[in-house]
Amino acid sequence: MIYLKTDEEIELLRKANLLVSGTLAEIAKIVRPGITTLEMDALAEQYIRDNGAVPTFKGFPNPNGPAFPASICTSVNDVVVHGIPDSVPLKEGDIVSVDCGTYIDGFCGDSCYTFCVGEVAPEVKTLLEVTKRSLYLAIEQSNAGNRLGDIGFAVQSYCERNGYGVVREFVGHGIGHEMHEDPQVPNYGSRGTGKQLKNGLCIAIEPMITMGSNKLRMLPDRWGVVTSDGKPAAHFEHTIAIHNGKADIMSSFEEIEKIERQQN
Ligand code: MG
Ligand code: MG
Repeated sequence: MIYLKTDEEIELLRKANLLVSGTLAEIAKIVRPGITTLEMDALAEQYIRDNGAVPTFKGFPNPNGPAFPASICTSVNDVVVHGIPDSVPLKEGDIVSVDCGTYIDGFCGDSCYTFCVGEVAPEVKTLLEVTKRSLYLAIEQSNAGNRLGDIGFAVQSYCERNGYGVVREFVGHGIGHEMHEDPQVPNYGSRGTGKQLKNGLCIAIEPMITMGSNKLRMLPDRWGVVTSDGKPAAHFEHTIAIHNGKADIMSSFEEIEKIERQQN
């Protein structure tokens, strides 16, 4: 069942999502060779709790294994999603997708950004740029009256045209009081198909794009998912609301991108 949000609810959703964006910006400041994803997780949890929110990922149930043990997912290189933070230092040339969720004042935030660790290979940089661009192309399609298939088509057609794989097993989702609500928001599809987008619809759009094959494999920890060919994957996610007929982006990459420019 799709639950459309009021203007007041959209402002609460924005608050939760801007807190995710603030958390990711804090992480942007410390991403460098030598840092561990466990250190990133500690910083994220502290920042979220200091701001009066709860990290929604921590303790998230898994029907096939233990609950998620951390406040962020840190997916390094060939890990596509749901990487568990660990004590392995990141190396120059790695990429790490940091997915973060918060809960505050009854609403959820959910956003993800793929960071470069030091200098990364040009072809990996291009994968990140294309994935991020596909997210914004999808957001451009997120007008009232359009359909979910328009969003999926925007991501799929752009990424496949660039020679990349589009993950099918994991998709975007509605978001509100719950982190995962209806509808599902696939990163593939046909124009003009699927549910129609209406004012008040709040969704997380999250292309997960692979440099090679889109075939995946589950890690023994029952959370992390890697590409079967070992090639890198990127993941960018914004939560948006359909508001006054068009997409209103609840999360923000502005601060992260400012920090990235200062580092270069
Ligand atoms: Mg997410
Ligand atoms: Mg999500």
